[in-house]
Amino acid sequence: MHRQQHLKNHSREALRERFRADGLPAYRADQVLRWLYVQAVEDWSAMSDLPLALREQLAADWQTRALDCVHVARSQDGTCKATLRAHDGAVVEAVLIPEERRQTLCISSQVGCPLACSFCATGALGFARNLTTAEIVDQVCRMQELLDPDERITNVVFMGMGEPLLNLPAVAEAIRILTDPKLFALAPRRITVSTAGVVSRIEALLDIAPVHLAVSLHAPTDAVRDVLVPLNRRFPLADLIATLRELDGVSPRRPVFFEYTLIDGVNDSERDAERLVALLRGLPCKLNVIPMNPHPDAPHGPPPSAVVDRFTARVHAGGLRVTLRRNRGTDIDAACGQLAAREAAAAVDRAVSPG
Ligand code: SAH
Repeated sequence: MHRQQHLKNHSREALRERFRADGLPAYRADQVLRWLYVQAVEDWSAMSDLPLALREQLAADWQTRALDCVHVARSQDGTCKATLRAHDGAVVEAVLIPEERRQTLCISSQVGCPLACSFCATGALGFARNLTTAEIVDQVCRMQELLDPDERITNVVFMGMGEPLLNLPAVAEAIRILTDPKLFALAPRRITVSTAGVVSRIEALLDIAPVHLAVSLHAPTDAVRDVLVPLNRRFPLADLIATLRELDGVSPRRPVFFEYTLIDGVNDSERDAERLVALLRGLPCKLNVIPMNPHPDAPHGPPPSAVVDRFTARVHAGGLRVTLRRNRGTDIDAACGQLAAREAAAAVDRAVSPG
C-alpha cells in the first residue's frame, strides 16, 4: 500500500510542480488549494469545479487534513486554547487571542521542545518531533473554524510549543502558504516568528519573507541567560546581539521584538534593567516584558507588581520602547510558557520511550 501524501505540506509553487510531474495541469493545484485555504473546504465531494474522476484520483493519493480538534478551552477574557491531535496521536496546542481590531493566533512548531528553558512548561516536556508543514498550517485552518464566518485570523505568531528555527524547512513552507496572496494572503508583517536565539538560522528565516522577528532574551548577562535559556551556551549574547545589529531590514519601522520574562529575584533588578538598556542601545527594538506565568514544573514565579513596574519604568527611562504584556488566558493555562497539555506530555513520553 502506498502512503498518502499531504496537500498542506506544499506551497502552491511546489504543488503545481508535483501535479505537473503526475501529468496533471498545474492549474488544478491552484483549484485544490483554493478550496482548502480560501473556501475552507476539505471534503473532496464538495470541490465542485473538479471533474469527478479527478477528485477520485486525487483523493486516493492526497490527504487534505492533518489535525483534529479534540478540545477547546475558553478563557474569561475571550482567549481560546485548542488541543489538536495529529494522525500519529501527537498533540499540540494553539491559542487564539481576540483583540478589538485583530485576531491573533499563536501556533506551535514542534511537539514538545528540545531547548529546556528552565521556566517554560513546554521545555519541561522534552522533545517528541518536528511538526510537518501540513500540521503547522492546519492549526490555522482548525482555529479559523472556531471564529464567526465574518471573522478572520489577522495575525499569526510562532510562539506556541517548540523552537521554530529548529524546524525551519517546515516553518518556511508554512510561511509561504500563509503569505501566498492566492491562499491565506497574510501580509508577512502580520506573522511573527519567535526564537530563543538560534543565531545561525536567523538570516535564513528573514530570507523567506519579511516577517517580524521576536527573540526570547530574558537576561542581560550570559551568566543568567546560560541558566534560563541553555541555548545561550551555544549562541552567547554577544553573538546574538551582533547578528541582530547587522540584519538588513531591521529599522525603527521594523524593530526586533524582545521577550523578557520577569522572574522573581532572577532577572528583575534595577541593575538588570540598566544592563539591558546598555546591551540594546542603538538597536531598533521593542521590549515586551512578561511577568512569569507560574506552572508546577518551574521553581520560580513572577516578581511582585511593584518590582515589575520598577523594572519597566527603568528600561523605559533608559530609552527602550517597552510594553508590559497583560497575561491572557491564564485561567486555561494558555499564557506564554504554559502550553503543555496532558495529552502532549503523554505523546512526548511515547516518543521518548517507544514501547
Ligand atoms: N522557542 C521559541 C518560541 C516560543 S515563544 C522562543 O523561545 O522564542 C514563547 C515565549 O514565552 C518565549 O519567549 C518563552 O521564553 C516565553 N515563556 C516560556 N515560559 C514562560 C513562562 N512560564 N512565563 C512567561 N513567559 C514564558
